[in-house]
Amino acid sequence: HGEASTVTVTTPGGSVAIGEHQSLVVVAGPCSVENEAMIIETAQRVKAAGAHFLRGGAYKPRTSPYAFQGHGESALELLAAARQASGLGIITEVMDTADVEKVAAIADVLQVGARNMQNFALLKKVGAQDKPVLLKRGMSATIEEWLMAAEYVLAAGNPNVILCERGIRTFDRQYARNTLDLSAIPVLRSLTHLPIMIDPSHGTGRAEYVPAMAMAAIAAGTDALMIEVHPHPAKALSDGPQSLSPQQFDQLMPQLAVLGKAM
Ligand code: PEP
Ligand code: MN
Repeated sequence: HGEASTVTVTTPGGSVAIGEHQSLVVVAGPCSVENEAMIIETAQRVKAAGAHFLRGGAYKPRTSPYAFQGHGESALELLAAARQASGLGIITEVMDTADVEKVAAIADVLQVGARNMQNFALLKKVGAQDKPVLLKRGMSATIEEWLMAAEYVLAAGNPNVILCERGIRTFDRQYARNTLDLSAIPVLRSLTHLPIMIDPSHGTGRAEYVPAMAMAAIAAGTDALMIEVHPHPAKALSDGPQSLSPQQFDQLMPQLAVLGKAM
């Protein structure tokens, strides 16, 4: 694949470089932005623990139309406030072509979620704007389909794409929500120059399994991690069972730091 590419993101706290030859980058935060107090508290806690980006959904791709859909535009404003308060860069999902400009106005990186990996109109639209794009792997997408989805963004003119493995559909969902495909790390490394992120939270669906898979991902060579953290996981409006508490995140971060790739 030639030279590994680095995606450099300018955040209020300085620029963060993501790629094979860079330090490990950690993205942390709740599944959904629920209110101002919780997003600011989470931002400050994950920042203090050493995270580089705050994640949090304003627009949520929920399986059921009756489940919490995210607070939308008002949550974008709360993310802007958390960005200001913490100095962290913001990563948040955009689901609709009509929202790209609005989301890009506050986000430092635009997330395209698993369910939209092959939303070609959305891929072209995020490819035609300047913010880096975090492209999650579709839950049943092959590596080839995923790389071709990334190609849509690149072909539209945006070279800053990060690939995020978040678990693929599994036949046994009793103990893990998905099968986190860690073999994607060396496979992608051999096929593409793009930076690689692993999301052990959606990958397992269970907070207790997140640390082991985060460490395994580092051992396998990931460039970045995405970890869901919520101040009160039991009360989360989405993905509570897979969210670490700030205390658990505090314990995990030093464990990650000893694993080689400097942070
Ligand atoms: C998320 O990051 O909260 C999310 C919905 O992820 P995915 O698209 O991987 O399911
Ligand atoms: Mn989630």
